[in-house]
Amino acid sequence: MKKISVLGSTGSIGTQTLDVVRKHREQFQIEGLAAGSNKDLLLQQVQEFSPRKVSVATKELADSIRHDLPAGTEVYHGHEGLIEIAAATDAELVVTAVVGSLGLSSTLAAINEGKTIGLANKETLVTAGHLVTAQAAAKGVKLLPIDSEHSAIFQCLNGERHEDIERITLTASGGSFRDYTRDQLVNVTVEDALKHPNWSMGAKITIDSATMVNKGLEVIEAHWLYGIPYDNISVLLHPESIIHSFVEFRDSSIIAQLGNPDMRVPIQYALTYPERWSSPAPRLSLAEAGKLHFREMDLERFPCLRLAYECGKMGGTAPTVFNAANEIAVARFLRGEISFLRIEEIIEEVLHRHHNVQEPALETIEENDRIAREIASRL
Ligand code: NDP
Ligand code: MG
Repeated sequence: MKKISVLGSTGSIGTQTLDVVRKHREQFQIEGLAAGSNKDLLLQQVQEFSPRKVSVATKELADSIRHDLPAGTEVYHGHEGLIEIAAATDAELVVTAVVGSLGLSSTLAAINEGKTIGLANKETLVTAGHLVTAQAAAKGVKLLPIDSEHSAIFQCLNGERHEDIERITLTASGGSFRDYTRDQLVNVTVEDALKHPNWSMGAKITIDSATMVNKGLEVIEAHWLYGIPYDNISVLLHPESIIHSFVEFRDSSIIAQLGNPDMRVPIQYALTYPERWSSPAPRLSLAEAGKLHFREMDLERFPCLRLAYECGKMGGTAPTVFNAANEIAVARFLRGEISFLRIEEIIEEVLHRHHNVQEPALETIEENDRIAREIASRL
């Protein structure tokens, strides 16, 4: 039995992780679950999976569910609660599926305890890639990617030598507004933006896909996970989302990973690695798919991708600030307070005011994250 904790169990990745666990009930034991504020769903999950520890966002929420929990389940809350679920259970694998850089300290805590990480929370690597990867290396901890593109690359690199890699290419669906011109983006609504053509995901990442910030975060995530220079990481528009990403090698071979867009496949691979088990996801038929399409990315049309490459290459605190400004801007857009195109303007303006710090320590990262959020909020 593999013991697992899930941070963000009530979200899109969290619930799909529990789908995978449900499919292989005898093979997994859930040790801890952390949620934000969806207490009804968390209580259902507790009934079904009997974790020893759970956590919610606030003390009020924790107090309000304490009496509904079975005797064997303890409840925690807030930042410390998240760290408790990440680091202080018997779990050998922790799925990090909270959204945003709030996942950083709990991911570091889990690594510190030697737990394998099923990494969905890409903002963590973007914000502090050098610290997370260094700590994982020091502790001999595996970071198993759950993001579909990175899981694809991980599978393509299986058994390959690092020096043989020429280029990795992340595919991008193009998001909700793939075929819109810049002019057509002026008046788009939150509702329009939340309609992703291929993937059903949490709200924040769906907006990030429409702005192409998501692909930018993924380029930085790939840089840290695979130690590849930014000039050797490409992005290719692929509307069908069937090729999840691919690697070119120096003998000019290309290895790709394909499948229907279903997050349960990369989630399950992180849970069962290095084994492959039967999956609840529907199988891909290439004969039915018929044709696959590809297009070069237009960095004028998607300026956030250009900004992400620039921040990645700059290194230091630039990616932290890019991510923090985006988190604030997307939250505001989702509340209907700013327009869609204002998101990229805010990111660019916050970056403009930022003085980059190289090789930042955790406190410097947290400080710059906080300042970027303040400036973004004011803008
Ligand atoms: P969701 O918004 O669906 O879920 C976020 C989860 O985080 C929820 O369980 C939420 O709890 C929890 N949460 C929010 N605030 C807090 C808090 N203060 N303390 C503890 N938990 C909190 O996000 P997704 O599942 O879509 O994304 C999760 C991560 O995975 C992101 O980093 C995303 O980029 C990445 N990812 C997602 C993919 C997808 O298909 N969805 C694909 C690839 C990567 P509650 O709902 O109870 O408030
Ligand atoms: Mg992805």
